[in-house]
Amino acid sequence: MARADLLRVWTSLLAAVLVASLLIAAALSTGAAAREAGCRGQVVLDAGHGGSDSGAVNARYGLKEKEHTLDVARRLKTLLEADGHAVCMTRTGDETLSNNDRYAYANTTGAEILVSVHMDGSSDPAPDYTTTLFGKWRKDKELALKVFDGLTTLPAADGAETMRTRAPYSFASGVLLKSDMPATIAETVFITSDSEGRLLSDGTGARQQQIAGALRTGIEDYLAAH
Ligand SMILES: [Zn+2]
Repeated sequence: MARADLLRVWTSLLAAVLVASLLIAAALSTGAAAREAGCRGQVVLDAGHGGSDSGAVNARYGLKEKEHTLDVARRLKTLLEADGHAVCMTRTGDETLSNNDRYAYANTTGAEILVSVHMDGSSDPAPDYTTTLFGKWRKDKELALKVFDGLTTLPAADGAETMRTRAPYSFASGVLLKSDMPATIAETVFITSDSEGRLLSDGTGARQQQIAGALRTGIEDYLAAH
C-alpha cells in the first residue's frame, strides 16, 4: 500500500472513531436528561413503570406496560404543548424510578397537576375498563373525576360504543399522597385484554393516540376550571 493510501485509511479510521464517540456522548447525555432536570411546567406527566419494572405484560401480543405508558405520555405531552401547556416528564426513556423519585421530581416543577399514566392488568384476557385513582380525596378528587370523564369518551377496543368504566377509587400510592399538587393515576385501558392487545400492537399507534387524546380532554377540562 502506498504511503498516501495508508494515510487515507488512517484518516478515515480516525474519523470513524470520532463519530462513534460523539454518538456515545449523545446517547449518554440523553440518558442523563431523562428526568428533565430543572423543568418547570403546568403539568407533570408520569409514565408508569420503566426499566426493571415492566408493569403489566400482554404475552400474546408482546406488550409491556412500561413501553406503552411512555408512548401515550409522549403523545399526550405533544398534544398539551400544542395547546400551550408546559409539560414536564418524570421519565422520557426506559428508566427505573421509585415512587419517591416520581413525586419528589414532580414537587420540584411547580406544576399544577400530576397525571400518572398506566394500563391495567389481569390474568384473564377478557376484562377491559377505564378508571382513575385518587389519593387524598380533597386534593385529588376533582382531577381524578375530570380525567375519568375524559377517558369515558374512549371507543371500546372490542367494538362496543364506549369503554366500560369503573368509578374512580381511592388508592394509597406515594405518587398521589406525597405530591404537593392534585394528582391522579389513570388506569387507561387493560393492556392484558385481547382486543386492546390487538389494537395496541397494530403498529399504527392509533390506539395510543386515542388514549392520549382522551387524557388531554380531561386534563384541559380540569385546567380550564382552575
Ligand atoms: Zn401500572
